[in-house]
Amino acid sequence: MAEHLGWAIGDGESVRIWDDAWLSTECIQRPMGPATEASKDMMVKALFQEGTQKWDEEKVERLLPELGESIMSIKTSRQGGPDRRIWLRNPAGEYTAKTGYVAALERRASNPTTQRERGINSRWIEDIWKLNIPPKMKLLLWKASHNALPVSERLAARQIIPNPKCINCEEAETVIHMVFLCPSAREVWRKFPSKVELNLDNVTNFAEGWRRVKRIICLPPTGVLSENLAVWTVWSIWLARNQRIFREEKTCPLEVMNRAVRLAREWHQAQPVAEQGVKRIRSEWEGPMNEIICRSDAAWSREGHQAGVAWEFVGIGKEHLCSGSQTFANVKSPLVAEGLAVLAAMETAISLDFKQISFESDSSKLMTAIKDGSNVSDLHGILSDINSLSLAFVSVSFYWVSRSSVSNVDGIAKQVLRNLVMNPV
Ligand SMILES: [Zn+2]
Repeated sequence: MAEHLGWAIGDGESVRIWDDAWLSTECIQRPMGPATEASKDMMVKALFQEGTQKWDEEKVERLLPELGESIMSIKTSRQGGPDRRIWLRNPAGEYTAKTGYVAALERRASNPTTQRERGINSRWIEDIWKLNIPPKMKLLLWKASHNALPVSERLAARQIIPNPKCINCEEAETVIHMVFLCPSAREVWRKFPSKVELNLDNVTNFAEGWRRVKRIICLPPTGVLSENLAVWTVWSIWLARNQRIFREEKTCPLEVMNRAVRLAREWHQAQPVAEQGVKRIRSEWEGPMNEIICRSDAAWSREGHQAGVAWEFVGIGKEHLCSGSQTFANVKSPLVAEGLAVLAAMETAISLDFKQISFESDSSKLMTAIKDGSNVSDLHGILSDINSLSLAFVSVSFYWVSRSSVSNVDGIAKQVLRNLVMNPV
């Protein structure tokens, strides 16, 4: 029976590249090998971009050139949800017989290092969602931690701008450079109202930098928790960087820090006392109270394995608020495309500060999986991310609706897919 067990990839920490079956959610498929000496013990996470759960196309192409496309189509958990053992003959990936394999699985799960590492990596993200800060800032930290901010180095890598250089110094502008390592960022952190000086030497990833800055203790007059002030500082650094690039306005480090303190204090004072321990409700009973409805839909091309997704936000009086769209490559099925649509819509809702929201989709399979927490192997990473992003809302629900209810977004999704297919980038 072992030949029917595979893996759905979440954070890639429990799955071995060469020894485990992780390439398909339908049949046993593992890389052919032979493995190189250097890669023979590698876990799947070694194929991710540093400090993220996103595939590093170059690493994948280098190690497993003939599998590039099928690997890129595995949608991992960008929030760092764990990998899951799956039963390959059943699309939900659940095995029905409890046998020795369960024991084998438990043995692997109790491996102390893996468990400890995973605990730290995912816990700090969960902590962010719990902080009493505006959702758009949670999203900023989340994006920063997943290397998803449009910093120069990323834009240059995608050939959108010619030069990866930081606007303040000669180094390439990565996320950790922009937030922690750039001399101008360090200057800002030095102005942080704390007793002890902050050491940002040798920060190698965002989680590490964040751990150091959130520990600094604020001096009393600020009236804000230091952890919260650290978030506002990241925000203020990002803001100053954008103003310098897009409006050619230069803000000195002290002003960047003062702005962080001012914004943090204003926001803190505007919070009603009762909301300090915000209750997070996730239940259908809240449905009618939700202020915003978000409808999403996806269009998928079988030939190119591409998807166009679209979403729109509608207010309580049914008025159209705004809409958006996005395209994706390496999408293996219409169901995965629907999942990506909801995920993209959730990210947008968070950046727009929507707090009470219902998501509607005409994919009953997706909505059922979200609501019941059931497992669909191809959606493993996406469902895990939908789950963690849900924490950013005060209340959130998911509804299946008829096809005609999403006809607006269906039209947009088809349009962006058509454009993509006709003008490939
Ligand atoms: Zn710099």
